[in-house]
Amino acid sequence: MTYEFRGTAASKAQGEKTCPKCAEQVKAAAQVCRFCGYQFDATTIVAAEEAVRETARKREATALAIREATLAHRLGKWVGRQRAKYRARRPE
Ligand SMILES: [Zn+2]
Repeated sequence: MTYEFRGTAASKAQGEKTCPKCAEQVKAAAQVCRFCGYQFDATTIVAAEEAVRETARKREATALAIREATLAHRLGKWVGRQRAKYRARRPE
């Protein structure tokens, strides 16, 4: 049960689609289901490939946003430290 679930999750990560006829996982670019022989039409194939690319783009965008947030956080800390030093050098 647990193994089966992990297998499905891993397959989805590699860019696979679910066959509408037998509900098995097949390659996103597949034209024919390897389990039941269902023929995917070109639109379905293009849409599946686009969905895979979109997922990759979103993943990339998220990674970029995390990097930017981390940099901004570090910069904010650095600016805070410089301000503290500046204030320390100038007694009021
Ligand atoms: Zn099938």
